[in-house]
Formats: sequence, C-alpha cells, structure tokens
Amino acid sequence: MPIQSRLPDVSTSIFAIMSKMAADNSAINLSQGFPDFQVDPVIIDLVHHYMKAGHNQYAPMPGTPALRNAIADVIHKTYHYNVDPETEITISAGATEALYAAIAAFVHPGDEVIVFDPSYDSYNPAIRLNGGMPIHINLQYPDFSINWDEVKSRVTSRTRMIMVNTPHNPSGAVLTAHDLKQLESLAEEHNLIVLSDEVYERIIFDAIRHESVLHYPNLAKRSVAVFSFGKTFHATGWKVGYAVAPKALTREIRKTHQFITFSVNTPVQLALAEYMQTPAHYENLGAFYQQKRDYFLQGIKGSSFEPVACHGSYFQSLSYATISSKPDRQMAEELTIKHKVASIPVSVFYHDKTDNRLLRFCFAKSEQTLDKAVGILKKL
Ligand code: PMP
Ligand code: GLN
Repeated sequence: MPIQSRLPDVSTSIFAIMSKMAADNSAINLSQGFPDFQVDPVIIDLVHHYMKAGHNQYAPMPGTPALRNAIADVIHKTYHYNVDPETEITISAGATEALYAAIAAFVHPGDEVIVFDPSYDSYNPAIRLNGGMPIHINLQYPDFSINWDEVKSRVTSRTRMIMVNTPHNPSGAVLTAHDLKQLESLAEEHNLIVLSDEVYERIIFDAIRHESVLHYPNLAKRSVAVFSFGKTFHATGWKVGYAVAPKALTREIRKTHQFITFSVNTPVQLALAEYMQTPAHYENLGAFYQQKRDYFLQGIKGSSFEPVACHGSYFQSLSYATISSKPDRQMAEELTIKHKVASIPVSVFYHDKTDNRLLRFCFAKSEQTLDKAVGILKKL
C-alpha cells in the first residue's frame, strides 16, 4: 500500500542510532543523554511502596494532586512564583509530551513558530505535525547566544509561538536576564506564546542563576514552562515531566494532553511527591554535575579537542577541528566504531545542517566511565 508520510524527511532519532552503534561496537556511550549511575534507592523504595499499597490504576488526567502540590511548593521556593496546582500544572509523559501537547494546543495550521538551532530534535516534527511552520534561527557560534535583532526581523503576523531552551541542549549555553527581558518585550509586542524548555533547570554551573520564565511575571503570563523529573532525579526512563502555564493556557494544554496520553503512571507520581519534600534531593544537582563537567574537562586537557563553554545541562561539546576536517557525522561514527567512544554530531540539531566540527559528549557518567573515554580521546 503506498503510504504518504507526514514526515518524509525524518529518520530514526540520532539518539537511538548512536546508542545502538555504541552497543553494537562495545563503545563507551557518551552519546544519548542519560546517567549511567543508579537512581536513589529511597525513591525506588517509595515507588515499590505505592505499588504494593495498591496505587496502580489511572491517575487523574492532570496528574495526582499530591505531586502537583509538591511541584507548586518547590516552584514557590525556587522562583518565588505562585502557581495554582489545581489549574496551572499538568503532569506529562516526560517533557517530550508536554512540549508536544503545548504545540498541539496552540499552533494552528500555517502558524509560524520560532526555534533556535541547534535545537532538540522533537521541536521541528512536533510543530509540523500540527500544521505549523518552524522558523529556524541559528544561535551565534561559538557562544550559542541569541541575536535578538535577527529574531525581531523574523517575526511576522503569522508568528504564534517562540521556543527557548535554557540550559541548552546540545551546547550547554544558558540564557541571561538580558535575554529574558528581550524575550518578554518581543512576546508582549507581538502577542506570542513562549514555550520554554527548562528540563535542565537544576543542572547549571558557575554560580549562574537559572533564568526561568517563571522569574518574570509578565513573561510567565504568556508562557508554558516545561520540566522533566528524568533529568532531576536521574530517571530518564521513567518519563515523567510537567508543564506549568497560566490557567487559560493550561486549560488548552489539558485538552490535548488528555488525548495524547490521558494520564501518567500513578505510583511514580506519588513517590515523586513524597521524595520532593526533602530539598536535599534536588538542591545539590548543580554542584554534583559541575564536578563531573570539570572532571571531564580536566581529563581532556592536553588533548587535541577544544571545549566550547558549557554552563549547564549534562553535555560538553568538543571541537575536533584541529584533528580532522571530516563532517561531524562521519567523525562520530568513526569515533564509535574504530575508537570505541560514542558521541552525538551537533550538525543533526541544525535545520540547515551547519557543521562546526563539534561532537557532544554526555558527562552524566561515573568517573570510571569518564576515565575510559578520556583515555581514548587523549590519544587522537
Ligand atoms: N528537551 C530537552 C532539551 C532534552 O534534552 C530532553 C531529553 N534529553 C527533553 C526535552 C525530553 O525530556 P523527557 O525525556 O522528559 O521527555
Ligand atoms: N534528550 C536526550 C539527549 O539529548 C535523549 C532523549 C532521547 O533519546 N530521545 O541525548
């Protein structure tokens, strides 16, 4: 039967490809972003407890009240922003679903959505599947900052939404207060919805404050902020995230969320709600990962790789321009197959396939794993 694909240009995600290549070649996998260490046994016991206690049926569509209340408390403590758990928080199947539900809720056919490249791979297909037109704007190399004059020149009467991501995957760059002010005035002037991907909110280094849209009341009024427990509690496989948005926006997001997935697994939500009562469970994440970033950077010192500045996320990009002029995808494949270290070629995150000869390495790994990888990278 001839099939007319809705995404003819899309193939298997680079994360699946590189993780498989790493496994097939027994390579150290620093490609797909996930920790190689265990989740805290305390939360595993909590999940077990809630399962045994019989909490195994559908959760309420927007999420369990206990988890939404716990999130509202933490947001108040962190961002000094009052969010109503009843009407402004929706628990999603990972950040991916929250992003998709928000795009499905607000993007009408023909609407333009501004996306900054390199961008996370789900943004563009999610916009197109909903009839929207992604408008890709490249971040400035090598600091991956936004050129706001360019952004202003690309806004049209059809622009509906602007997506931002800080700390940024893949570059590790972070937005500044100045960026958020620019974003606020642009969004107000053109009546845009802001979709802010903040999954790495707590993985930020060098005493920099995470600039959440929730810090800026006028911005928060027109924003959907998206978070992921996968990043904060080292449990990417649990796929639980959430969207925070004002009541009128949340009402629309829940309309799409209820038909994408309806609700998210119950025992994990209850366990998360209890686990979050202890601030030590999430407050030290920045310091924890900063130590890993520094360990990795220290390790590759003296190698031919040149790091780009990483202030957040658990990714460090390295330039191999002095080692080879091969395209980054070829370089990543060779590095995996011949040298046994897997990474992600950064060009895949660009609509125009910009290739700055950069590879992204995930440092959410034990020191033993990082030592092995560094030992290999130093020899190149
Ligand atoms: N946005 C960004 C920037 C990410 O890096 C990721 C996952 N690595 C996601 C969204 C998706 O998060 P989740 O796994 O919770 O769906
Ligand atoms: N977000 C993770 C990364 O950037 C991967 C998520 C996925 O595999 N879809 O590596």
